[in-house]
Amino acid sequence: MKTYLLALLPMLALVACQSEKNMKDQPQTLSPSTASMAIDSLKALYGEGEVFRITRGVEQAAAFWQPVTDGNDSAFLAFCREYYVPEGPGLELLHQRLSGNFEVLWGSFNKISLKLQEPVQLEVGDILPVDRVFAGYAAGAHLNDDLFANKVAFITLLNFPFYTLEEKKVRAAEWTRCDWAFARMGEVFTSRVPAALLQEYSRVNTAADAYISEYNIYMHNLRKGDGAPLFPEGLRLITHWGLRDELKANYADPDGLEKQRMIYQVMLDIIRQQIPGECINNPEVVWDPYTCKVLSHGKWTGVPGEGDVRYRHLLEQFRALKAMDKYNPLYPDYIKRKFDQGMEIPQVEVEALFTELVSHPVVRECGRIISQRLGRPLEPFDIWYDGFKARSGVAESRLDAITRARYPHRDAFQQALPDILRRMGFNPADATRLSAQIQVDPSRGAGHAWGAEMRTEKARLRTRIGPDGMDYKGYNIAIHEFGHTVEQTISLHEVDYYLLNGVPNTSFTEALAFVFQKQDLAMLGMEDKDPLKEQLSALDHLWSNYEIMGVSLVDMKLWQWLYAQEDEVRPAQLREEVVRIATEVWNAYYAPVFGVRDSPILAVYSHMIDYPLYLSAYPIGELIQFQIEHHLRQHTFAPEVLRMYRLGRLSPAQWMKEAVGGELSILPLVNAAESAVAAVGKP
Ligand SMILES: [Zn+2]
Repeated sequence: MKTYLLALLPMLALVACQSEKNMKDQPQTLSPSTASMAIDSLKALYGEGEVFRITRGVEQAAAFWQPVTDGNDSAFLAFCREYYVPEGPGLELLHQRLSGNFEVLWGSFNKISLKLQEPVQLEVGDILPVDRVFAGYAAGAHLNDDLFANKVAFITLLNFPFYTLEEKKVRAAEWTRCDWAFARMGEVFTSRVPAALLQEYSRVNTAADAYISEYNIYMHNLRKGDGAPLFPEGLRLITHWGLRDELKANYADPDGLEKQRMIYQVMLDIIRQQIPGECINNPEVVWDPYTCKVLSHGKWTGVPGEGDVRYRHLLEQFRALKAMDKYNPLYPDYIKRKFDQGMEIPQVEVEALFTELVSHPVVRECGRIISQRLGRPLEPFDIWYDGFKARSGVAESRLDAITRARYPHRDAFQQALPDILRRMGFNPADATRLSAQIQVDPSRGAGHAWGAEMRTEKARLRTRIGPDGMDYKGYNIAIHEFGHTVEQTISLHEVDYYLLNGVPNTSFTEALAFVFQKQDLAMLGMEDKDPLKEQLSALDHLWSNYEIMGVSLVDMKLWQWLYAQEDEVRPAQLREEVVRIATEVWNAYYAPVFGVRDSPILAVYSHMIDYPLYLSAYPIGELIQFQIEHHLRQHTFAPEVLRMYRLGRLSPAQWMKEAVGGELSILPLVNAAESAVAAVGKP
């Protein structure tokens, strides 16, 4: 009971500072005494037993109330008296009504988007120009504004308290399913950001995205001094994924090392922004990444670098997101919005998990095995070592022939769904019921799953089926998407409260999709018999997590630094800081494994620039998936899938506790890697 006032402090601060600024015009926020008057009057009506809900409900409604559009102070007082519902059957009825109506609204808008995008997403004939216009139209874009305008948002805020992550953790032990559903209702309205700020963010985000998308390196133009070109004519690679994938591919090339070193040097030039501006996305300019000079009329010439454009984009995104802080009183900064709200795992916990893994002794063991396999000491780019992938023993052409014969058209795959589920161990009734809620659609792209948001609709499994049937790649993806749609079906149709439908975050649905996908050969009646497959896969997981966790640590530390600055930050200053943070993380957790100090390579990831603070979602997702897969392997698959995914959208911590009986942890991965080191690392 004591924590709630603290949790609401940012809101009260907002109320106070805004009312000072806007004294001369009409007030843009309620006067500070209005909320306490509303609280007193409701307490007088409903008694001390309601004090927690009254206080929190009134404070959170007041934090969003704008007198100019929503009504003056006395209108707010009247609103609270009219719409506050004390605990009991009346409140349960209100919850039911809101749930039912949100299901209609969200479900219908979802259906509208799904239908309007069909011509561009499905193989249903030529795409007309007008199809793209409809596909880009978001019919539900104004829903949030409308629900504030007609007071539905305020009725929800007034009656359903918002709980912080910390509070949910503390209360979880005593909460019923109904309490969780009520808590989720308290999270439906958390922001009221003016359209102009959303548009500004969209503008700077699109610009950053375009900057990265058009940032290509023409590899045949790279030289080391007067040496010959190392890369073939026409090889154009995007930063940093294309560069990284080429680096990975070169592990298979006996002459790959020189090429890998050169790619690494290009990455350093990008991070430090020494890369000559004129050689980006330009097939004409020959340059030397080791000196950053360009070849002009037969002479090596020094030219200006790119000029910190990379960091200017990052700064503009930071500023646009920070401008929204005061319109998100429940999650008052972007770090909280990404972690507490989006992922629902506190940033400090994420950082602690990552630090635990990157400093674990098993990583050093894994590094030793890689160095042995390479026959040389590690170099910093070996964070992308790619040699633990087990290769399938069956030729892909043979697999293509099997899947094409089995699934010549859409209907064949649709009809096969119950049978695939039965082979996975679902009983006939479950297999039939789940399959009946999944519709297979012929996809233009590689495939995806699109769940329903109302119980009258089916989940869509989009998969690519060529004129001569489904090839193995298409089949493999279809089985992955089948896993998603099974999750979407269970967690919508078989969860007790609509507000609890779904999963805590996307990692939980990816986990089931990957578990399905790994059974694809077994579903064709074949088995992959590589005895080391599991061990190699554990080491592959460990090493890729080691890489991406380091990158994520840099990303998080950078955003903490940005928020800590009181003065305006300049792009050059940000560049220096990024290099400093990346080098610091490297020296703490990578230098001991690699035996090389002072590399800023962890700052190269492009999402750091175009997808702010997203990177941590990858390793968190991998940890969750690893833990869920590990649990499913040790239990009877089908009943356990049904039980786990009927939990719905609890917090991730509570879901893990009820589903796999433990907290989110690096231990399953570390244990698997340790036994793999013992099996693979034998001299
Ligand atoms: Zn997926």
